[in-house]
Amino acid sequence: MAGEPQDDCLFCKIVAGEIPATVVRETETTLAFRDINPQAPTHVLVIPKAHYENAAALGAGDPGLAADVLAATQAVADEEKLDSYRTVFNTGGGAGQTVWHAHAHVLGGRGLQWPPG
Ligand code: C5P
Repeated sequence: MAGEPQDDCLFCKIVAGEIPATVVRETETTLAFRDINPQAPTHVLVIPKAHYENAAALGAGDPGLAADVLAATQAVADEEKLDSYRTVFNTGGGAGQTVWHAHAHVLGGRGLQWPPG
């Protein structure tokens, strides 16, 4: 069911404390932790604690929670003192999504090129 924890989901396991992560911010509904394979000096993932498979499902299933995630990305950027940063939601395998639990990448701390590869 939408929003329910999934046994086979890596990020649900991080939320449950079953897999370690370097948490930088937590709210009642969101968790932010450092990416294990950082692509920039700051590379933090912001996730809803509830399970939605990607940003599209999150936005359709719980718009308020999607707003919580967006607010958390700004809070992380503020805490990391990022003037400029990029927020990325990879949606679907063709776009590079590898973990099927919605997450925003917050990338900053270096110059970022556009368009991305
Ligand atoms: O957008 P995508 O699904 O590819 O992003 C998943 C991200 O989760 C990757 O950047 C990967 O490095 C990160 N990851 C992590 N901790 C894990 C497993 C994956 O930070 N234990």
